[in-house]
Amino acid sequence: MKYIFVTGGVVSSLGKGLAAASIGTLLEHCGLEVTMQKFDPYLNIDPGTMSPYQHGEVYVLDDGAETDLDLGHYERFVHCRLTRLNNLTSGKVFEHVLEKERRGDYLGKTVQYIPHVTDEIKQRLYDVTEQNKDCDVIITEIGGTVGDIEGYLFLEALRQFALEVGRSNCCFIHVTLLPYIKAAGETKTKPTQQSVAKLREIGIQPDIIVCRTEMDNLTDGEKKKIGMFCNVPPRNVVAFCDVKHSIYECPIDLGRDRIDRIVTEVLGITVPHPKMADWQQFVGRVIHPNHSVRIAVVGKYISLQDAYKSIYESFTHAGAANDCRVEVVRVDAEALEQGNPEEIIGDVDGILVPGGFGDRGIEGKIAAARYAREKGIPYFGICLGMQIACIEFARNVLGLADANSTEFDKHTPHPIICLQEEQKHIETMGATMRLGAYPAHIKPGTLCSSLYGGEETISERHRHRYEFNADYREAVEAAGLVISAVNDEHGLVEVVELPGHPFYIACQYHPEFQSRPTHPHPLFSGLVAAALRHKKED
Ligand code: GLN
Repeated sequence: MKYIFVTGGVVSSLGKGLAAASIGTLLEHCGLEVTMQKFDPYLNIDPGTMSPYQHGEVYVLDDGAETDLDLGHYERFVHCRLTRLNNLTSGKVFEHVLEKERRGDYLGKTVQYIPHVTDEIKQRLYDVTEQNKDCDVIITEIGGTVGDIEGYLFLEALRQFALEVGRSNCCFIHVTLLPYIKAAGETKTKPTQQSVAKLREIGIQPDIIVCRTEMDNLTDGEKKKIGMFCNVPPRNVVAFCDVKHSIYECPIDLGRDRIDRIVTEVLGITVPHPKMADWQQFVGRVIHPNHSVRIAVVGKYISLQDAYKSIYESFTHAGAANDCRVEVVRVDAEALEQGNPEEIIGDVDGILVPGGFGDRGIEGKIAAARYAREKGIPYFGICLGMQIACIEFARNVLGLADANSTEFDKHTPHPIICLQEEQKHIETMGATMRLGAYPAHIKPGTLCSSLYGGEETISERHRHRYEFNADYREAVEAAGLVISAVNDEHGLVEVVELPGHPFYIACQYHPEFQSRPTHPHPLFSGLVAAALRHKKED
């Protein structure tokens, strides 16, 4: 097994995750089998309980792990299927160490950061190696910035690990910032030198320096200087520029300085040049589509760039497949609570209500669903967005005025969305969530069935607590709502749709976690296609 470790220097938000994922894309296109993981130095056990304000989206894996959103990039940029082993936080590391201490596993020894905590981190690398025997390369991104106290134990563990598996099987890549000082008209290398010095203090000499720069590339002089003071050949200094249109340009951008050649040389492997034609083609369709649509995303965290990351990426994939740019109109659900929907979302070609927790903005989302249903605007509800569609239908079609989810109104007379009986006694936060991949059966002859190309059983990822209340099934069906997919084992409603409407579909699961650049999710593609038709008719 070969190992690539990606660290970051100088500042955060450099796009380290994207750089790691892009290197994965390039290596995969050279014919290597790649998997990826992230080490996060914070103390939360996982990002599951963190606010989107803190951490952006929580990305859910097949096995139900709630992970860092960078794992979303990994699965979108590389054909890997990740598991809970692929995201490790300090919280998890300490949890294990302390459990072992209580169990007496340390046989009365003093439990120390080194070796016990660092051993725990190294063990994860060995476990992931064991789990991915058919892979050629494991790329590990270390969260945070070199020099942070929190990250120290992880870097120390990597230093030891490289010694154990052989330094020639490891490639350390340091992603850093080259600030451009306007007044001096110069790109500055000093912060990079200092952050590499910090790494070397710990005993890690990076093999490759990836320089994030606003410029279009690095000059030979800059490469030489950075190489000299960071102790690498100038060729191993690679530019990572601001991409102009799309993050999917990143692998192409990093490929310009031939990072795939340098990495494989460091690792001592010989592979053909990357064949990027399919990726190039996809990027071309993202950048130069012939059509465009405007789709409103009505949510609570609309001002945050990262809160609905996978949804925005899914639009990019579905847009490319439909030769169409999706302009996302971010609508704050609370604005719809007082305002007139006509004024706020009257001119969009489609409406998406994404997942969410808590009651803020709920009535605004219900207003959006109603507006879409009544005006024939394509509607797609995800998770909370399906619950919203059901509440709206119950209130305004069935005439159950106070229908609600018990999440928002514990005493509603019409709990059309509620907890399942067996969940009710479990109080601990998170303990009752339905997480990860579950199968669903699709009813033939439905919109859902045609979107999934006639597939009968699908597997989709979930992250929610409340479910459609089966007591209302007959009533909603009699009134015209079609339940087009269910989980048979637990009798749970997975998809609802409205026949007779141009496009009105909502699912309890999160399709956005399985959309891929060249395999857009059918429900997103369906929405974009419906929005295009809606626009043409207008
Ligand atoms: N809050 C809802 C639930 O827990 C929906 C969750 C979601 O949209 N992810 O069921």
